Amino acid sequence: LVRLRSRLSRSQGTLGQGLLKLLSRDKLDEATWEEIEDTLIAADLGVGPATELVGRLRTNTRVQGSRTVDEARALLREELIALIDPTLDRSLKVAKHPAADGAPERPAVAMVVGVNGTGKTTTTGKLARVLVADGYTVVLGAADTFRAAAADQLQTWGQRVGAYTVRGAEGADPASVAFEAVKEGTGMGVDTVLIDTAGRLHTKTGLMDELGKVKRVAEKQGTVDEVLLVLDATTGQNGLVQARVFAEVVDVTGIVLTKLDGTAKGGIVVAVQKELGVPVKLVGLGEGPDDLAPFDPEAFVDALLQ
Ligand code: GDP
Repeated sequence: LVRLRSRLSRSQGTLGQGLLKLLSRDKLDEATWEEIEDTLIAADLGVGPATELVGRLRTNTRVQGSRTVDEARALLREELIALIDPTLDRSLKVAKHPAADGAPERPAVAMVVGVNGTGKTTTTGKLARVLVADGYTVVLGAADTFRAAAADQLQTWGQRVGAYTVRGAEGADPASVAFEAVKEGTGMGVDTVLIDTAGRLHTKTGLMDELGKVKRVAEKQGTVDEVLLVLDATTGQNGLVQARVFAEVVDVTGIVLTKLDGTAKGGIVVAVQKELGVPVKLVGLGEGPDDLAPFDPEAFVDALLQ
């Protein structure tokens, strides 16, 4: 939590302090409510969620009484946490499937998808590190075969964390790499296979064909348990446009919001979750190997309101 607070330090000025100052004004008139809504939108919360939050605050009877900054903070905290929905299941489905009905045991399979540059490969590497530290055995699949550097980068992560990396020749069919990775992982009896995919968004059909195929081929040997969509928090509302495209192509099961350390607009967490109806499961808080954390709504809101 301390780390989250310091990493989000740049968000604090925008959302937390600004809102608290407005909310603790003597008179909450129409103009003030508009300012509150504008502040929320400026923090990338999105117009819908911002309007919803203002509506909830306006009808909250405790807002009408005398307020101190502490009271305002408590109210805002409550409403922001509710908006992020603390009841969503944010656990990662990465545990091995036991043998059943004559079928042998098989690894959980997670695909990591997103536009190039969002932090996909880094996230895959960091996630492997977290899983290995938690006692899982992991195989990595470098299905981004269009950039040799991406496979090298992933393999370096693999060597660092102790995970075998399956890779194909440059330009090989990404789906064949995914197939091999699942096959290899099953043969080795590992817990989890993490597949890093390519994210060229030049044509939606191309992407759809490719990611759909990767998923179908991986599913030939079982199920794909997680499809984690990596979004760069610093791209703000543009990230939402990307998110929509990916959600149409594959069934996204969780969002990873990277570079949250580099933006003053933490509200994107709310916007993207509302947009996709899928929980933010992990957040990237830096470039280092330990800078991937499970998303905790309460800790996040506390950091925002510091
Ligand atoms: P990919 O093309 O989507 O696979 O992106 P990469 O994994 O190569 O990452 C692109 C850049 O973003 C690299 O310089 C990473 O170090 C950086 N990066 C990834 N995640 C984070 C993060 O959470 N915070 C910051 N500040 N940088 C990150």
